[in-house]
Amino acid sequence: MSKLAFLYLSNVNVRYIILLIIFMFISFDFYSNELNSNKLRTIVIDPGHGGKDPGTMGTKRYTKYEKDIALSVSLKLGDYISNSFPETKVIYTRKNDVFLELNERTRIANKSNADIFVSIHCDGFTNSKAYGASVFVMGMSKLKANLDVAMRENAAIYLEDNYKQKYDGFDPKSAESYIVFSLMQNTYLDQSLQLAEFVEEQFAYIANRKSRGIKQAPFYVISRTNMPSILVECGFLTNPKEEDYLQTEKGQNQIALSIFEAVKNYKLSLESSSTENNLIDSNNINNKIENNLNHNKVIYKVQIATNLISILNDRKFEDIKVEEKIVNGIYKYYVGASMDKSVINEIKTNLINNGFKDAFIVAFYNGKRISTKDALNLQKQNN
Ligand SMILES: [Zn+2]
Repeated sequence: MSKLAFLYLSNVNVRYIILLIIFMFISFDFYSNELNSNKLRTIVIDPGHGGKDPGTMGTKRYTKYEKDIALSVSLKLGDYISNSFPETKVIYTRKNDVFLELNERTRIANKSNADIFVSIHCDGFTNSKAYGASVFVMGMSKLKANLDVAMRENAAIYLEDNYKQKYDGFDPKSAESYIVFSLMQNTYLDQSLQLAEFVEEQFAYIANRKSRGIKQAPFYVISRTNMPSILVECGFLTNPKEEDYLQTEKGQNQIALSIFEAVKNYKLSLESSSTENNLIDSNNINNKIENNLNHNKVIYKVQIATNLISILNDRKFEDIKVEEKIVNGIYKYYVGASMDKSVINEIKTNLINNGFKDAFIVAFYNGKRISTKDALNLQKQNN
């Protein structure tokens, strides 16, 4: 209550008061969840296909197919993670060229209580001109192209014994079979999108890939995992140029490094929820809330949600002043705007305590999203 009094007396923005009102309805559930979910302890890496299932065979100019490139990228990704974050456990669904059933992959993930699941694949298409990397989250898309990719990947099921029995009659190539996916709730959509977004960013940054964007599709393998899950299509093996790139050590390294950097950002955003709370300097809250998006100024905001369709009118936002922005077809929701990170930290903490447990800080420079590390450096330079 002393905090309420303090904020009231310091006559801060009305947004704060509204936030504070909802803080009074703190749900202990949310709080205890948050305590458990702020570390990236385990990651499951799932190299697509394997053994008798080669996946996409590309232009057939090489002897390495989708299963081989997916495995190679996966192992490199795992190495990057283990070397940089020895405390994070890396589990592979397969570490060599073996055939693995789709439900075995999800079983491994669920059994290990992983914090994230990353399935790695390469794309293929009838038109050899198609190129670029895509990141998918689970969901029913209205786009036929997305359904086609999912059908192709899910077709691995045909190579399994008794697949009709095991998958309750699910037929990977029949459109009717996908109706059930539209009824499925993707509990981890928000976090999955967040991770997907980080990967997408890094593909452009590190691997200089054309990004085909973040998409939603009914992939079986990420539909049954009980954790934020993404499926990465590293590029098209049916495109000769892209295939050349993906066959090289350099290409595979760049792709793996991009996904690693994304995982790192995701880890930091998760973990900052707990560590940054200690850095709050409440004295700085006074008069520091600024909404002016001046040029050459670093502006911090709290991102609280991302979605593929607008959720601006969602009930969970009804007591908060939320800003909606559409970036690369993704709807993003921000709260607050300030040049002072401690102000935004305070807002973030409050949001987390009110159920927005994935809230994290983002920085902008001249309206463009930058990393919070770059933001800090820019601020140092300017002072
Ligand atoms: Zn695949």
